Amino acid sequence: MTSEFDLIARCFARPAPDGMLGVGDDCALFAVPHGKHVATSTDLLLAGRHFFPDVDPYALGHKSLAVNLSDLAAMGAQPIGCLLGLALPNVDLPWVEAFARGFHALCDTHGCPLIGGDTTRAADGHVAISVTVFGAVDAQRALKRSGARVGDDVWVSGTLGAADAAYRLLSGQWARDDALLAACRPALERPEPQVALGMGLAGIAHAAIDISDGLLQDLGHILAASQVGATLQEADLPVDDALAALPAAQARGCVLGGGDVYQLCVTADPADRDRIIQSARSIGVRITRVGTIVSQRGLRVLDTAGQPIGDLPGGFDHFAST
Ligand code: ADP
Ligand code: MG
Repeated sequence: MTSEFDLIARCFARPAPDGMLGVGDDCALFAVPHGKHVATSTDLLLAGRHFFPDVDPYALGHKSLAVNLSDLAAMGAQPIGCLLGLALPNVDLPWVEAFARGFHALCDTHGCPLIGGDTTRAADGHVAISVTVFGAVDAQRALKRSGARVGDDVWVSGTLGAADAAYRLLSGQWARDDALLAACRPALERPEPQVALGMGLAGIAHAAIDISDGLLQDLGHILAASQVGATLQEADLPVDDALAALPAAQARGCVLGGGDVYQLCVTADPADRDRIIQSARSIGVRITRVGTIVSQRGLRVLDTAGQPIGDLPGGFDHFAST
């Protein structure tokens, strides 16, 4: 029988980087670079709601941290460290070890050590995961949602739609299609948070958000916070290649409304186009200009004929009435 403390020692405790106090005391300690603010964010992931209970545990470990690092990316913050809260219905050691490997691998990629957490038995038979991240950012350069200005370009990193297509296949909303699933599944299960891009755009871009609930919904948050509107060109959207064979209406739903993307949507002055492109190129990330911030409130998407699309898909809302 593995005790709580064996499990922590075996799966999660790692030597903390120099100058930090990590797993093993009542609190973790870390320093903040002089003059910077701490950026912090937390996300809760529940089996059956945020992930399929039979998902590969390594991928789940990766994604649990990825969705949080994505929030740091969207502020332009540099990761410092993270905390992991875990409720487990039982101790399935190989499962927890694989989860921890996936988690730690992404910690290493982004220099975001796991410095503490809490581990407990779940009361209801379902895994629950809570991750909190800490980062450092210059408050003047932080990419807030409220910074978009009329005339800004709207940019999107990476590609859109694949994660949502994978979700629809795995949830049974779409008929089985093994080839499509194989092409889309990595986007759903192994999102790569755009941390370096966010840091590169801090101080250049005016506003940013990470796309977790769908491009339209998340850009809508920037528009509301900035009190502006936007017009997007559907033809310019970076549709994932995996969606090439899908009927247009289906692809459109995934691209405009699909969540779990974890790419960045940013707005920036057109005078900074070259800097944005260079910044993305220097870290090997695709970035695409998809529209413009306008004074007229609301979000319009123009089709290839230049006509506004009438029935835009909504994004994900946990409390939406159905
Ligand atoms: P406390 O009783 O003070 O809450 P715990 O016994 O819960 O301490 O945890 C012991 C140590 O292990 C603490 O440093 C805590 O941060 C760390 N810890 C517990 N669970 C995890 C986890 N899932 N990941 C990382 N660190 C953890
Ligand atoms: Mg505890």
